[in-house]
Order: sequence, then structure tokens, then C-alpha cells
Amino acid sequence: MAKRNIIKMGDPLLRKISKPVEDFDGRLSQLLDDMTETLHAVGGLGLAAPQVGILKRVCIVEYDEQLYELVNPVLIKSSGKCVDNEGCLSVVGFRGLVERPQIIDIEYFDRYGKKHAKHAEGYFARVFLHEMDHLDGILFSDKMIKKIIDED
Ligand code: ZN
Repeated sequence: MAKRNIIKMGDPLLRKISKPVEDFDGRLSQLLDDMTETLHAVGGLGLAAPQVGILKRVCIVEYDEQLYELVNPVLIKSSGKCVDNEGCLSVVGFRGLVERPQIIDIEYFDRYGKKHAKHAEGYFARVFLHEMDHLDGILFSDKMIKKIIDED
């Protein structure tokens, strides 16, 4: 495994639409392993492949000590609305308040190509949606209704 470099806002790669994964191969597993190592090294709730400069529809979420590896994730259903505080490993110096759905259902594939469905609510849902936005070149700052400047 190897830790990868996280690119920051301003890098044009963060604004690209990522391509679906077609081959569930060793390279995909390597990417996922590297992303997990990178997330653990820097700390955070999730990381998307474009943040390490790879334009593939791959992201990871770690929530309640459970790691989710999402390949080609799709939002199936969403309802409700809630506003909460978000930050991003690619955005330095500020966080923001963002409105997102309260409840979601998503589908995705794992590293072996097996399909999964997941229901999530509240902040857990928010983390999935934040990471999935990265796959379409969207950052939380595009959606924030209030900017919160970091104290230090
Ligand atoms: Zn992010």
C-alpha cells in the first residue's frame, strides 16, 4: 500500500466528471487500499478517487468504525432536508453549512464487482453524498449556504 497525495481546490482535476469503473481488477484494489491508507494517514470521514488525481467513480467512507468502499455509486432515492457543517480534505481553511437530503438509498459495487444497497440517514448520508459529489466535480463549497472560516 502507498499513501497518495491529496490534491487541493484549484486543481482542475477536482472539477472533472469521473469515469465508471469497468474492470474490477488488481489496479482497482490497489487504488482502494491506497485511498484507505491515505484517509487513515490524514484523518477524515471519506475520500474520493479524484482527490488523489484518479478520475474513476470510486470513493470510500468510514463511519462508526466501518469502512465502505463504493465503486460506481448511484443515488437511488432521497428525502427530507437538513443543514449541517461540512469540510473537505481538498479544501483548506474553511468549512461550510450545506443543505442535503436527510435520508438516502444508494447502490454501489464493491471491489469484486458485487452489487450492494445501502440506506443512510443524517450525517452518515451526508458523508456518502459529499463523496459522491466529488465524482461529478462538485465540491461542498459550491453548495454551501454559509462559509465557516477555520480558527487556526
Ligand atoms: Zn471532499
